[in-house]
Amino acid sequence: MDRPKLQIIVLFQNLGDEHPYFARNPAPPLSGLLLAALTPPVVEVEVLHEMVRPIDYGCDADFIALSFMDYCAPHAIEVARRFRRLGKKVVAGGRYASTFPEALAGHFDSVVVGEAEGVWPRVVRDLVANRLAPRYDAPFAPALDDIPPPRYDLAEPSFAIAVVTEATRGCPFRCSYCQLNIRPAPFRKRPVADVVRDLTATSALPYHKRKMAMIYDNNFGGDMRHAKDLLRAIAKTDLWGVGLQFTLGCLDDPEFVDLLVDARCTMAFLGLESLNEASLTSVRKHHNLVRKYREQFGMLKDRGILTFAGFMVALDEDTPAYYREAPAKLEAVDPSAILTSIAIPIPGTPLHTEAVAAGRVVDTDLRHYEGDHLVFQPRGVSAADVFDAYQRIPAAFYAWPAVFRRWWRLMRAYWTSGHGRHRLLRTPLLTAILWQLSRFQRVHARRKVAPVLVLERAKWRRLEAGRRPVDRVAEAV
Ligand code: SF4
Repeated sequence: MDRPKLQIIVLFQNLGDEHPYFARNPAPPLSGLLLAALTPPVVEVEVLHEMVRPIDYGCDADFIALSFMDYCAPHAIEVARRFRRLGKKVVAGGRYASTFPEALAGHFDSVVVGEAEGVWPRVVRDLVANRLAPRYDAPFAPALDDIPPPRYDLAEPSFAIAVVTEATRGCPFRCSYCQLNIRPAPFRKRPVADVVRDLTATSALPYHKRKMAMIYDNNFGGDMRHAKDLLRAIAKTDLWGVGLQFTLGCLDDPEFVDLLVDARCTMAFLGLESLNEASLTSVRKHHNLVRKYREQFGMLKDRGILTFAGFMVALDEDTPAYYREAPAKLEAVDPSAILTSIAIPIPGTPLHTEAVAAGRVVDTDLRHYEGDHLVFQPRGVSAADVFDAYQRIPAAFYAWPAVFRRWWRLMRAYWTSGHGRHRLLRTPLLTAILWQLSRFQRVHARRKVAPVLVLERAKWRRLEAGRRPVDRVAEAV
């Protein structure tokens, strides 16, 4: 007998179906593939990532599971309304559903609160048995044992990297803008053997897709002993490259840095966020030390590890002078790529509480809380300064001559540092990733950021003239 079908949709289009933007990310997020792995075989399961393909409302799925962040919540409600009208049961889960389940009640057939592992198989069985409860609460911060490998085979072929997993959850730090600090859970680690199994459970993938992986931790180095044990184990696999995310302070440990090389770490995502010490202090990111940036990024460059740095504007101690100097300072620190965003006071975070208490939140449309919109009154700069910096800094960084100069500095450092053990193999790989990443950021700036900034400038002109902001995108287009 045919099993009913469950479609898991990882939402992405915060500005709705009328303003789609397909991001062509190199790798899928973990949530959908992991949820599919947790799904018991009483249903057939498929995954749709809205960042690479649109929702098909004519699909033959009986049940829909929507996974989404805060900025997609209004879109999720609309998607759920359309599917429910077609007679499908729709379940919500993810960070926003876990923080504000009451805001979703009535819009979905059920809301899952918390981490899925402890509760998802029951939700699916209840769906099939037609006894779905309106809400399921998962245990808070459970141990991370017995998590199955994600269903890489269900990732869309357009993702260049399909092997994505996690080694830890949580972070020991308390940055005020970070969603992990809405209801902080203790830092938890998965058994090293489980993570290695995930990285090698790839027989369903074509050969070339088994060789690259991403470990999506908030802070891979939150427990250095665990991180080092895992890096030693990864070094014994036949992966060509792995991407990791950790805090800059981890680079103060020379053994960790050497183990990154042994584990063939190809790219490190690092939360640099600001080149202004006072701005870092304003968001309690005390563990970043601007005076060490150059040395820390240089260490990775010497070892042929690409660095992808998060970089924020609109932090409280930012000034117009800082924005003017930022491109030259970034050039001196020399990350391989940057991911620029406008600071967001995400509801529930300490930053949001502070901004609301100070009466500085001017835009409460959740769709705008993705990092391209300015939703609160900045302190030391004007909105115009923020938009100018948000456009100008990445434009200077990703101008092709600047990309070429960065590639040349990386290659020179790597080839002359004495660390280039696998130089002949790694050079084409590093070159391909750096150029693809730079191309992606340029396209993103043109197709996603530029149109949003036109609307944002209009919104802030209205605000500053004392008129109500335009908070519906459709009205402003
Ligand atoms: S270091 Fe990163 S993951 Fe940890 S609290 Fe700060 S922003 Fe969040």
